[in-house]
Amino acid sequence: MIKDNLATIHNRIKAAAAKAGRNPDEITLIAVSKRKPISLIDEALAAGQLDFGENYVQEAKEKIEELAGRGRFHFIGSLQSNKAGDAARLCHLIHTVDRLKLAKALDKHAAAAGKILAVLIQVNVGREVQKGGVLPEDAEQLARQMQELANLEIRGLMTMPPHRQNPEDVRPFFRKLRELGQNLQAKGLIDPKSRLELSMGMSGDFEVAIEEGATMVRVGTAIFGARE
Ligand SMILES: *Cc1c(COP(=O)(O)O)cnc(C)c1O
Repeated sequence: MIKDNLATIHNRIKAAAAKAGRNPDEITLIAVSKRKPISLIDEALAAGQLDFGENYVQEAKEKIEELAGRGRFHFIGSLQSNKAGDAARLCHLIHTVDRLKLAKALDKHAAAAGKILAVLIQVNVGREVQKGGVLPEDAEQLARQMQELANLEIRGLMTMPPHRQNPEDVRPFFRKLRELGQNLQAKGLIDPKSRLELSMGMSGDFEVAIEEGATMVRVGTAIFGARE
């Protein structure tokens, strides 16, 4: 049952927050519903889950339209500039901005939609060639260039670290993302008056991510089961 899975994850989030001396209310659970049917999203909504993560624009669009305002959708997949319009219009937060061209496209569409669009900069902390994200040393420049884009608001950073069997081995990557985020915020590139958002941690490692400061964890399999 989705409801039981959600309750289990919430308990684990609380325990990890307690261990780190953090308030669990500052951690948002994003239920990653990619490639899962709307019926399961409905079940999660009925259990009180608000935030959902999707990786594909077309799939997200269909689900969001069908749900007619129920739920909040986070875009967490790699995003092409030519799909930025739907993502900007329909999503609550875009987690995967990693280049200026994409940022500019999102800004233009946000302006057309008359909204300020909240975004995260995705950072490739593990420097993996197959993964999206700006390299850590290039994040500051991207954040600086994005200051010109009046309809985007940089809320923080997101990462997809390298896969490791032991979640402890992922800790240094989470820590690196937090340090980078704090550094950008200290420089005023992320609003110093708002909370720095750190989107990190998935089914296998979200507790370690919380210990390292995650404010958003993206959990799919542990809620909805394995994907085909
Ligand atoms: C699929 C996905 C997740 C969820 O992964 P699980 O291991 O199923 O929890 C989280 N973040 C991103 C970016 C994803 O693509």
